[in-house]
Amino acid sequence: MKFRFFIALVILISLLCLGMIHRENSPPMEYEVSNVTTLGYENYSIDKELFLSSNLPDPNTHLEELPSIAYEKPMIFIHDVTPRYFKELRKVVKIIDRHNYSSRTVLFVIPRFDPPHYGDKWDLRNNPHFVSYLHELQARGYRIELHGYEHIFHEFNCSYVTARERLENATFLMGSVGFGNFTLFLPPAWALSNESIESIKEYNLTIVMPDYFILPNGSIMRVWNHEYTWYIERNETDIRVLIALHDYNQTGRAGIPFYLSIHPQVIVYGGGLEFLDKFLNNVNGMQIRS
Ligand SMILES: [Zn+2]
Repeated sequence: MKFRFFIALVILISLLCLGMIHRENSPPMEYEVSNVTTLGYENYSIDKELFLSSNLPDPNTHLEELPSIAYEKPMIFIHDVTPRYFKELRKVVKIIDRHNYSSRTVLFVIPRFDPPHYGDKWDLRNNPHFVSYLHELQARGYRIELHGYEHIFHEFNCSYVTARERLENATFLMGSVGFGNFTLFLPPAWALSNESIESIKEYNLTIVMPDYFILPNGSIMRVWNHEYTWYIERNETDIRVLIALHDYNQTGRAGIPFYLSIHPQVIVYGGGLEFLDKFLNNVNGMQIRS
């Protein structure tokens, strides 16, 4: 009974939180947050056919009926890695380092951030200190992957030819500052088109979305990739940690890999960094099932 009460409480509070997501001071440049939790999964119908067509467990299955599968530790996906948010990134890295979590963290880099507004200011080639910092992080286990090219509005909701050109520019620019061999691609604002998907696949990149990955061979892999720190207030930290751990537990039992998405410029607000600290503390203290 106690457990049921707890679940009801979590549902209630998470619904309240969902209503508070859209803050007036959130950056207008994109809507990249994805913070539906497993609690809302049964009502979450986007791309349901996609999930069901790829041999996934029926979302209505009782968790007790599923075989117990080893829980992979969560991976952290850091979006919007650009010199524009250097200070904020350092704060995030400090916490990840404290928990020795670098080898399970991916930095999604924007090769030249938002030229329509800033010109060449945030082009990696003009920011050598930031580039050395990224190399230093890479040497310590952080992975460097691609988050678009210029991160302009719905950048990869475009034609095949445009997507190809943007990928060419992105990989060329990254190559010129010493980064290559990419395997993942996170499209800005999750925006894609059928044509751009084709062109990204030809680059042999796996496309990262909130609920699934599109592998280079075109198959769909079910994942859980959500963000719990979109402008959360200080007093929301503990409930957000509880919800994230609950989701990790649910998805782990269903054999679905768990990814924690964060934005450096957003997580520094309110209780965000404290969330990360507490979440990693809990995850590191857990026994991994074998
Ligand atoms: Zn982004």
